[in-house]
Amino acid sequence: MKRICFFLLMLGLLSGCAAPAAQSEPAQAQFFSMDTVMSVRVYDGPKEDAVQAARQAVEELDGLLSRTNPDSQLSALNAHAGDGSPVALDGRVSELLTFAKSISQLLPGDFDITIAPVMDAWGFTTDQRQVPDPQTLAGALALVDSDKLNMDETASTARLEAAGMEVDLGAVAKGYAAGQAAAAIRETGATSALLDLGGNVTALGRKADGSAWQVGVKDPQDTAQTLCILSMEDQTASTSGGYERYFEEDGVVYHHIIDPETGYPADSGLLSVTVVSADHTLADALSTALFVAGEEEALDFWRSRTDFELVLCTSDGRVVVTQGLEEGMRPTGEDRGYTYEIVRR
Ligand code: AMP
Ligand code: MG
Repeated sequence: MKRICFFLLMLGLLSGCAAPAAQSEPAQAQFFSMDTVMSVRVYDGPKEDAVQAARQAVEELDGLLSRTNPDSQLSALNAHAGDGSPVALDGRVSELLTFAKSISQLLPGDFDITIAPVMDAWGFTTDQRQVPDPQTLAGALALVDSDKLNMDETASTARLEAAGMEVDLGAVAKGYAAGQAAAAIRETGATSALLDLGGNVTALGRKADGSAWQVGVKDPQDTAQTLCILSMEDQTASTSGGYERYFEEDGVVYHHIIDPETGYPADSGLLSVTVVSADHTLADALSTALFVAGEEEALDFWRSRTDFELVLCTSDGRVVVTQGLEEGMRPTGEDRGYTYEIVRR
């Protein structure tokens, strides 16, 4: 329900920012895939074909990457954990697994796609959410180790070394899908589109009036409001926050982004992380990883690279924005007590 409210808010915001006279009516589709509500809007070219191409690209990936669909390639990989046999994979699945593994190597202790047994222990996979007993959690955590995900990208195969290991691509699948959908849209000849794949907003090209897209970043403490509006062109803004999926037990809130070192929901002093990048998969992976990492490590990592920018919302009410977004960012949360800081290299 929360996601749907935000989705409606986003549409309101975006249409509110568009120049109605210059902006032609989009072709659009709203659908449920990868366990979330998605929308695709195409504003030029063969609009209907482009929307269908994008939707097909996303749905094909959902069929390959879903952990809950027993017929997916990911389920085949998980089912063969520990039996020694490499599993043949579609090139897209192998590319995504290799990429996700490389993020684990860059940010060890923050990001690990073999987190699945821990997600299960907390009941996030089913709807039986619960605080796991320490023994169950320790057993699940012992299985988390993406060094034991063996990839052979040339042969397009993968193998999980230990029985009980499982991969969960929840942290990266939507970003990868955004990239594939954007490519599918461009192939039809369309150049102007907006995708919202559940927390990953992708802006293709520019609006029909030639201006950049305006995308709202949700206030993690009040998801009907925004923290800021970002100007975007050919980029994805991916947001991760504890508010997206959580449950409450004995007055304590437990959310779905897990610190792989403790097995507990990450508690790094951040309420949300938004990553803006022209690399859609990177944006998604890093929003999850840097939420676990916390402000200091996130900014150190940002300083070590040039391919993404950040909006961090801290639990003490600061909105920390990296330099590259300074010009295109409009603060909208001052009336709710937020203060804004620009971080420079
Ligand atoms: P996102 O909404 O992109 O931040 O992804 C959250 C999802 O990623 C969760 O629902 C899990 O499926 C998965 N996940 C949770 N914690 C981690 C982690 N530390 N590393 C990799 N994947 C994770
Ligand atoms: Mg993510």
